[in-house]
Amino acid sequence: MPRLAYVNGRYLPHTEARVHVEDRGYQLADGVYEVVAIIDGRFADLDGHMVRLGRSLGELSIGWPVSRPVLEMIIRELVRRNGVSNGLVYLQVTRGVASRDFKFPEPKVKPALVITTRKVTRFATPAQLENGVGVLTIPDIRWLRRDIKTVGLLAQALGKQKAAEAGCFEAWMVDADGLVTEGCSSNAWIVTPAGVLVTRQPDHMILNGITRLSLLRLAGELGLAIDIRPFTVAEAYGAKEAFVSSATTFALPVTRIDDRAIGDGTPGPITLRLRAAYFSAVAGGAS
Ligand code: PLP
Repeated sequence: MPRLAYVNGRYLPHTEARVHVEDRGYQLADGVYEVVAIIDGRFADLDGHMVRLGRSLGELSIGWPVSRPVLEMIIRELVRRNGVSNGLVYLQVTRGVASRDFKFPEPKVKPALVITTRKVTRFATPAQLENGVGVLTIPDIRWLRRDIKTVGLLAQALGKQKAAEAGCFEAWMVDADGLVTEGCSSNAWIVTPAGVLVTRQPDHMILNGITRLSLLRLAGELGLAIDIRPFTVAEAYGAKEAFVSSATTFALPVTRIDDRAIGDGTPGPITLRLRAAYFSAVAGGAS
């Protein structure tokens, strides 16, 4: 059975899935997206991702392409048809198709909906889990509404490319005050020498990760000390542990930032506990 994609009401072979050349997502990055993991047949944080999708759409005055329950039904159906038990769902909603113009189409056009899935055999390599990953720090050159999960990802694509060229898994973006904002596709965390978990407050300067929110809840349940605040690159260099979080990395240990080893240079126990707690929560959760 060929892999299918959902495009504006139709389940199509992935190789034949197309959108219009005047889709505003394509021309103006006028659209939003979500990525949801499926772990052993269960959606990870589907509810949280749907809530954030609604928020992103609302911030841009884009309507739901279909109601949320129908969207969830389509997602489940695509996952079922594609036989995904471990993998990802990518879903994108744009303002729709209209003759190219910056201002919103009048009258309104129907938002465009695309959903794809991807199977994965493993979410992280054994080497990534055993040794941790490296991070490169770079200036944050993005716009100032990073709280909206838009498809405008050029700064992140450039950052990820730089990171890859430096042999790193991720780039951490740094603001004008020397404070880490977040990774190009993940949130940034450290554990201080005193054992306090630190991650930046959710405002317009970062995307409030759904995984971040779940990890904060789990960290609270584990009784960990938490400080929601920004941290500098220098503080990160001196941290006991560091990690990134996202729908596809969960909590992934960072053991190198630029050319400095973090802690003793191996994945930290708090990171690994949170990662394990996240998997247990998904395994024991709804859906
Ligand atoms: N920050 C940015 C810039 C991202 O692109 C992402 C995910 O793609 C995240 C944080 C993590 O968000 P989530 O945990 O919802 O995947």
